[in-house]
Amino acid sequence: MATEAPTRNDLAAAYGVNLEELRAKYALERQKRLNPRKNEQFIEVTGDFSHYIDDPYIEVPLVRDAIAEEVDAVIIGGGFGGLLAASKLRKAGIDSFRIIEKAGDFGGTWYWNRYPGAQCDIEAYIYMPLLEETGYIPTEKYAHAAELFEHAKRIGKTFDLYPSTLFQTQITELRWDEDADRWAVTTDRGDKIRARYVLSASGPLNRPRLPGIPGIASFKGHTFHTSRWDYGYTGGHSRGEMTGLADKRVAVIGTGATAIQCVPYVARDAKHLYVVQRTPSTVDVRGNKPTDPDWVKSLKPGWQRERMDNFIATLNGVNAGTDMVDDGWTHLFHDTMTALRHPDGSAIAPDDLAQAMEIADFRKGNDIRDRIARTVTDDKTAAGLKPWYGMFCKRPTFNDEYLDAFNRPNVSLIDTEGRGPDRITETGIVFGGVEYPVDCIIFATGFETGTAYARRAAFEIHGADGQSLTEKFATGTRTLYGLATHGFPNFFMMALGQNGFKPNITDTLDEQASHIVQVIVAAKAAGKTRVEVTEQAETAWVAEIRELARAGRPYLETCTPGYYTGEGDIDKGLLVDTYAPGPIAFTKVLNAWCDSGRPGLEFS
Ligand code: NDP
Repeated sequence: MATEAPTRNDLAAAYGVNLEELRAKYALERQKRLNPRKNEQFIEVTGDFSHYIDDPYIEVPLVRDAIAEEVDAVIIGGGFGGLLAASKLRKAGIDSFRIIEKAGDFGGTWYWNRYPGAQCDIEAYIYMPLLEETGYIPTEKYAHAAELFEHAKRIGKTFDLYPSTLFQTQITELRWDEDADRWAVTTDRGDKIRARYVLSASGPLNRPRLPGIPGIASFKGHTFHTSRWDYGYTGGHSRGEMTGLADKRVAVIGTGATAIQCVPYVARDAKHLYVVQRTPSTVDVRGNKPTDPDWVKSLKPGWQRERMDNFIATLNGVNAGTDMVDDGWTHLFHDTMTALRHPDGSAIAPDDLAQAMEIADFRKGNDIRDRIARTVTDDKTAAGLKPWYGMFCKRPTFNDEYLDAFNRPNVSLIDTEGRGPDRITETGIVFGGVEYPVDCIIFATGFETGTAYARRAAFEIHGADGQSLTEKFATGTRTLYGLATHGFPNFFMMALGQNGFKPNITDTLDEQASHIVQVIVAAKAAGKTRVEVTEQAETAWVAEIRELARAGRPYLETCTPGYYTGEGDIDKGLLVDTYAPGPIAFTKVLNAWCDSGRPGLEFS
């Protein structure tokens, strides 16, 4: 203690942080939000709620005959993950594949999420895949949804993927045929496809969820989920002009990354907007800007990979050179992890690092709260919008219009202080004994995580001994490097976890797609038809992931719940199931594994 006290107190004072006060406040706010029902609090979009996932964007429903065929690979999902996998198969000379996509076009996330203001808050130059291959340069630093959707279609055209894709088709079952070393894939259109390999790229956040608010089904007004925006009702388009809302009282329930983006647009167009908040997001500076043509002229081949690597290096504090992306994400990691110094400029000793990081995290939180106080004119509203939890407890957000929206006379914050509304009636939302009458409720309540893989995919997968993936993962995900699982030969998963977590998910997808395609190519070259992870290798990797994650648990245990922390069930959260040493270390592990002949993967 004698050596620790000066470090802690000096640093806290220099950073303007009152440690004891903030710790107590964070603990109090967490307590208000813990929900004993954890993930069970949400309503699944089945039965009476299944219309919430109908596709509102299909203009002409597809009519086609069922097909029966045999291919080398089936790719599940036509989002950026599936597109990356397909483009790499093409480049590797494997043309016998089928993409199966339930939507009406490519795009995945960017097909479904067309809500007003939808935008990717990771810089477009690193987020949008295959820019050099498609010859495209994004128009702005943070691309809007329509541009991202167009880019998905561009990749589809560039790699001639449309003829290989079954759109508006939902897989109903995958079943491994041990005698033939093939997957039997069936769909809701009666297709029977036999595939040597299956690559599942159905996305980690693909199944909308609804809040378990009592009375939700009794509401007689209009409702929809943000990922199925009803422009037929609101009018307008993804940049606003929603004339249909001019005479409507609207409630947006939820204040996560989605709500942060759509609230400013609904605020502008609705007669009145109630933002129904349980936990506020951290909202940092965005600073979007158009692409600089001179910068574009300066780009050399290989620029995108260099920029993606620079981003990850900067986030992980191993970049001694330029911060190319230089934005809210890189500043967040820099301020909370890599910029730590004693007031006299000297480095912090490794033993004191955890404590210093806590102080830096609190300082960043103070900056976020100060921004709210500076921007929002009504003191009570400003107080309600302040987040009180660690910067990595929930998805950080970046926006320059959200906070200002609360200065409009037609916008009210209903701050439920962690409880959520008491109930929904036929005509409105009730909280604290007050009913707020509304014409429309928009659910910005996110997507299922931590539920069974098959439930999120909406089909079951039966492996080598007939075991289902739901049974296999009943006590938690079990994979080798997040790529494959024992008992499910020739089946590869993308964006599942148990890998090196990168905020830029397309970078992770790119890495995974490369490794999966390399495995398929290696199997083909060796004349092998079956590739399976051994139980030993999988057990060892899961144990390593869990062991390394232990160091991060004390931080997660201070967090207000959200999907990063399994809605309060940390073991089911996203963060505990990633490789704690980080994405750069993970890439090294994966490459070393590949170079040493992929031990733990049996080819037969
Ligand atoms: P989230 O899961 O992040 O947010 C859901 C929101 O609903 C939370 O504010 C939650 O409150 C609230 N909520 C849940 N139940 C209730 C209830 N009963 N009453 C009131 N509020 C409730 O979903 P999002 O769609 O916002 O975002 C999902 C993810 O999608 C993001 O984390 C991000 O990864 C991605 N995304 C990325 C974007 C980008 O720019 N790249 C943009 C948008 C989304 P509480 O916090 O208290 O649980």
